[in-house]
This record gives sequence, structure tokens and C-alpha cells, in this order.
Amino acid sequence: MRASNIHLATFRDDPADAEITSHKLMVRAGYIHKVGSGLYVYGPLMWRVLCKIEAVVREELARIGSQEIQMPVLQPRELWERSGRWAVYEANGTMLQVKDRKQAEYGLAPTAEEVVTQYVDATVKSYKQLPLCLYQVHTKMRDEIRPRFGLLRGKEFLMKDAYSFDIDQAGLDKSYEDMRVAYHRIFARLGLEAFGVDADPGDIGGSGSMEFMVAADIGEDAILIEPGTTYAANVEKAESRVSPSSGAGAEPAEMRVVDTPNIRTVADLEGFFPDIPADCMVKTLLFKAVYLEEERLYAVLIRGDQELNEVKLKGHTGALALKMLTAAEIEQHTGAAQGFAGPVGIAEEFTVIADKTVRPMVNILCGCNRTDTHALDVNLGRDCPMPEFVDLRLAREGEPGPRSGTALRLRRGIEVGHIFKLGTKYSAAMEATFMGPNGKPTVFVMGCYGIGVSRIAASAVEQNATDKHIVWPVPMAPFEVAIGCLNIKREEHLAGADAAYAALQANGIDVMLDDRKLSPGAKLTDLELMGFPYSLVVGRDYPKDGTVEARDLASGERWKGPIDEVVAELTRRVEAGRSGSLTETTGQLGT
Ligand code: ATP
Ligand code: MG
Repeated sequence: MRASNIHLATFRDDPADAEITSHKLMVRAGYIHKVGSGLYVYGPLMWRVLCKIEAVVREELARIGSQEIQMPVLQPRELWERSGRWAVYEANGTMLQVKDRKQAEYGLAPTAEEVVTQYVDATVKSYKQLPLCLYQVHTKMRDEIRPRFGLLRGKEFLMKDAYSFDIDQAGLDKSYEDMRVAYHRIFARLGLEAFGVDADPGDIGGSGSMEFMVAADIGEDAILIEPGTTYAANVEKAESRVSPSSGAGAEPAEMRVVDTPNIRTVADLEGFFPDIPADCMVKTLLFKAVYLEEERLYAVLIRGDQELNEVKLKGHTGALALKMLTAAEIEQHTGAAQGFAGPVGIAEEFTVIADKTVRPMVNILCGCNRTDTHALDVNLGRDCPMPEFVDLRLAREGEPGPRSGTALRLRRGIEVGHIFKLGTKYSAAMEATFMGPNGKPTVFVMGCYGIGVSRIAASAVEQNATDKHIVWPVPMAPFEVAIGCLNIKREEHLAGADAAYAALQANGIDVMLDDRKLSPGAKLTDLELMGFPYSLVVGRDYPKDGTVEARDLASGERWKGPIDEVVAELTRRVEAGRSGSLTETTGQLGT
């Protein structure tokens, strides 16, 4: 296309409300225009990027037999009441709600499980029509607490949402696995560095959930990765290996209680007992676990050199919230001042649990619920009841990973996709059934699978841009090559640009010829800002020696040559870049 036929608009200044690179650059380069908080116009270049992302998504979903449909954004309240989610979304405020002229109420689709379940229930009669996987690429709306970061967290955004329907759990397992592989292929084909991370199934429970993250420093999620293996997990879920306590394997000695005036923390103890390393100590953390109808007290034992992961503790206790006991509550429940709690002689109202690293410890130094004293050479199961051992420890960067022992690396990531085994949550609530092989009505076993199409575009910018300009990965670039004709008033320049344009088009390259009336400097700055991966510049040298300049935006490389040579080299590079980082092993990745 010729740039003179494309609505382009670039700006010198960063928008006032933009905090991150992708937001600033996408506004400045004219990709998006803000209409309201979390609401944007996608300009012509943005739309080309989104269509390219969608095309890759569509091709990969077609490969696994998923069929495209489209469902309404306006969803009747009554449907959401059947699944029980109207009240949930009303409580958390995520769903925007509207009324029509007859005062009938609707939710504006934050997701579409209810609609698709009702559709499939009404149109699938027999198990012979299953499995079925349907998807749409459509607008979603969510009343986000804080819409921000441009397309990363919009109020209105583009999502690909897919839903699988199977006869049984084995069928769901297969549908989920197909989708997992498709997701790996999609992100690889788009040229993104992305990884699948085991996710916490959260309140919905169920048997599996995985999030797909694009690596980027501004990502909201912290992920520990074990290099050389497929292990990647959210810090909240991550595991690691640690060497056993240095005292493990010793002969158990007799327990002694010693005076430790005002010695309360592990650091204090290390100073007071210089010969005892922190990994031979146990700290005891006291929590109140809050449930709907009751509260329970927990004493949590953690090895002195380790930290507690509260998300793991919350998961284990199943509590709605965890509260650390205050100093006053500690005195009330243990009879000792803060800093002296321990497993020895603790009140029975506490459930005592210990991290797994505590299990092999012998001759432990810990509190014994008496102010200004500690117990030495404590052995669990002998000097106090044996606690339950659970993984409660915070895994840290640099520790050996769970698979191969390679040191874990910390990365930050942006969630771009989420796959989920739903099971029968929605089909059971909405009584969605088909005639099973046994002739009886059977509920569908479902999975749901989201991809943030518009968020992917912003993540790609975050992952690849410099502070000055966007750099699109070839597979989603609005144009693969831009030709900058620096002086359109000169016949020879235009002729050169036209020749290069025709040659690149003949090679099947998606190319834009910038024939706008702009100064050479402004034109080059624009082409760079907009992030076209390659450009071909027809300038002053062309009439003299027939050479043009090629630029590779990602590497910064520039070289000169005659048009046919530059066109051939650019064609080669573009073709190589089109499959992103897709390799034969893509899809075998993950857990
Ligand atoms: P987040 O935790 O970031 O709020 P989510 O877990 O609520 O996202 P899902 O319900 O899993 O999101 O939606 C599927 C996908 O839709 C997400 O993986 C993400 O890529 C995208 N997405 C969700 N919310 C937004 C938003 N406000 N703006 C843009 N994309 C979004
Ligand atoms: Mg999610």
C-alpha cells in the first residue's frame, strides 16, 4: 500500500497518562487513540496488527478442529442467573450492566461460558456430535478496577475465547492438551518469547489450568524458570530444592531449655548461639485462618533460613483470609511474649504444620512458649507431637529447580492466555446435557481457553521496543517492509521507490511505500517510530550509483546495495521471520 492512502498520524510527545513504553509508543505512532479510560480507537495500522494476530490464532485453532462462531456481547441477566454468576459479578463489580427500554437487564460480556453452554445444550442432542470446540474473536468488556497501560488492561478489549465440550474427563483431557499445544504454537509463530506456567486453579478448583506469559519487565507476574527444562511456575506456586539442614543425620540429644533474654528473631539467635547455623533453627509463625463461619489457629514451622509463602499456606488451609496474630493475641494464646512461640508445649487450640524442609531436622533450636527462653536439641515427635509436613516455603531465584537442579531464574511476565479445565461447573448448574452412549442424559464436560488478542499486541511492543521506537516481530508487523522515498519530487527517486515496491510485492512481501510529502528526516523518524521491522530507503545516492539503503530495525544493521540485491536480501529475511520462533519441538513444551 501507499502511505498516502493510509491514515497515519504521529506525535512528538508522550501522552500524559502513559506509564509504560508500549502505551507511549502506540499512542505516539498513531496505533491507538484514547476515547475514555480503557477505551481506544484502533487506527488502520493497529487494525492490521490485530488482524495478523487473529489470522495466526484462527489457523492454529483450525488445525485442532475448533470452529469459529460469534456470540452477542449483550447477555441476558437470566442466563447468568442460571449459572449463579450474576451475583458473583455484581459483587466483584467486573460486569458492566445495562437495561433496555423494557427495563430488561443485561450484562456486557466479560466472558461467554453461559451463552455458549446454552447454545450447545440447545443444539447438541447426542454424544455422536461430540467432541465440539467453538471459539470467537470478539469484544469483551470488564469494569476493571484500574484500566491502565493502554491495551494491556482495557475496559473494552479483543479476546479469543474458546470452549470445548466433551463426553467425559478423558475427552476433556485430550481437548485441553490439543489447546495447550496450539497455544505454544500460536505464541511461537507470533515471534514472542512466551512460556506456559502452571496456574492456581483458584476457587473453581478442577484438574488443570495453565497461564501463558510473555516475558517483559513490566509484567505483573513473577515467574521462576528452570533453564534447560520445561519448568516454569508463578512464584506463588513455585517449588525448589534446598539442601537438608546441616544438622540432619546427627544423633538425637537430650532437650534442654535455656535462658534467652529478649532474643526473639532468627538473627538474634544467630548472634546468641554463634555455633548454631540458621538451618538448624525453626521459627514458629502464628496465624488465624478465617473461614465463613469460624476461625482456626495455625502454628507454622519454617526452617530458620527459609521464608514462608503465604499463598501456599492459604491454599493448604483453604481459608478465605489469613491474619498473623498480633503481639497481644500471641500472649493470650501461647502465654508467652512475641518471639518465643514454638512447637514444644504449644496450646492444643493450634494446628501445627511444618514445611517439608523441617522433616529431616534433628536437635532443633526453637521457641517453647515461655518468655525469654528457647529449647535446644528439640526432636519433633519426641518432644512434641509430630506435625503434618507440607510444602509451605517460598522458592527463590538461584535455588536449584525441582526438575534438574539447575538454578532457578526469576522473570516477569504478562498473562496473554489462560487455559482451563472447567469440568461440569457450568453444564451442571445450567442443566446442559446430551444423550450419552448409555442412552441417559449426561452433562457436558467443558474446558475454556482465552487469549488476549489486543493485549498480545501491547506485550509484543513491551518485549521488543526501545525507548524511542516500536519493533514489531515480523509475523504481526502492520507491514513487513516500509520503503522510504526521501524526495518524492525527484522523478528518479520515485522511479527507484516504485521499482523496489513492485519487486517486493512480486516476492509476496507485505510492503508500504511511504510517498508522503514529508522532510527526509521526519519520514525516517516516523518509519522508525512505527516499528516496521525492515525498511528500504531511496535517497540521494540512488540517482548517482543506483544504490539504496536497507535497515534492520531489530539489530540496527544497515547496508547498501542495488535495488535487486537489497530486495532479495530483505525477502530472505522476511520469509525467515514469518514463522516466528516456531520449531519442531514447539508444543512439546510445558508440563
Ligand atoms: P488479569 O489477571 O490480567 O486481569 P484475567 O485472568 O482476569 O486477566 P482471563 O479471564 O483469563 O483474564 O481472560 C483471558 C485473557 O484475556 C487473559 O489471559 C488476558 O490475555 C486477556 N485479558 C483479560 N483482561 C483483559 C483486559 N482488561 N484488557 C486486555 N486483555 C485482557
Ligand atoms: Mg487469567
